[in-house]
Amino acid sequence: MAGKAYVITSGKGGVGKTTLTANLGAALALLGKKVCVIDTDIGLKNLDIVMGLENRIVFDLVDVIENKCRAKQALIKHKKAEGLYLMPASQTRSKDSVEPSQMKVLIKKLKSEEQFDYILIDSPAGIERGFDNAIAGADDALVVTTSEVSAIRDADRVIGLLQAAEIYEPKLIINRLALDMVRMGKMMDERDIIDILSISLLGIVPEDENVIPSTNIGDLLVLNLTDSKAAGAFKRIARRLEGEKIPISPWGESEGIIARLLRAFKFRKNEKSNEKEEEDV
Ligand code: ADP
Ligand code: MG
Repeated sequence: MAGKAYVITSGKGGVGKTTLTANLGAALALLGKKVCVIDTDIGLKNLDIVMGLENRIVFDLVDVIENKCRAKQALIKHKKAEGLYLMPASQTRSKDSVEPSQMKVLIKKLKSEEQFDYILIDSPAGIERGFDNAIAGADDALVVTTSEVSAIRDADRVIGLLQAAEIYEPKLIINRLALDMVRMGKMMDERDIIDILSISLLGIVPEDENVIPSTNIGDLLVLNLTDSKAAGAFKRIARRLEGEKIPISPWGESEGIIARLLRAFKFRKNEKSNEKEEEDV
């Protein structure tokens, strides 16, 4: 089967695209897949840093596009995840050094010559040339949003642009969902967000205090803090991409069990006092 290329995009910056690209790439590699993550943020690259691979860069995406090296020479193998490779962005060039048509050719080549199962394209913020480059070779898209109104509004705009580029069924990832905030009514929950964007939800990644420190030291959560809430969410998203039907719960797996137990307990208590109550979530 030929590989599939997903662009990870958002509109608004800082919502978690790079974090998702790196961790989802690692999670797919753990499932035995051959994965290439591509940094298209030319000039502002940071996927290499998040993955702890910045010292290993010799060639980059622009070198490959300009035929200064072969694609294979620019690919950096991850130190800890077998099957995970990074195609880094250039630090010193501008986004105009690459054309969408060249990205198409590159991604085709990565599928056919390098036999990648998954190509995850991390896109830069904004909807300018960098965005056009990022989506050019993609078969499908993952749209990342947080539950902030500005992020949702930008996601909505990006969904329109993706559809205009013939990516008709982008999938949604809600990142940094904080349940306490949702409960207090300070944040939209996933039902409100899906209602507004009306695309299918692929996963919810909770706000997790482990993400930032692991990003800072170039350690991927999925490989190092495997039982953290966010790592669990990334791994479930990987399995859903692989076609497994895993229910989506904003609580994550472990908390889901606790919440279910609590509800069962509450239900029993209510039964005793002869009050019937609908299950809340
Ligand atoms: P983008 O690539 O969209 O600009 P990043 O992936 O760089 O966003 O993430 C922006 C910031 O948010 C980073 O500091 C990152 O560590 C943090 N972050 C991302 N996802 C989460 C999460 N689920 N929980 C906590 N912090 C997160
Ligand atoms: Mg980024």
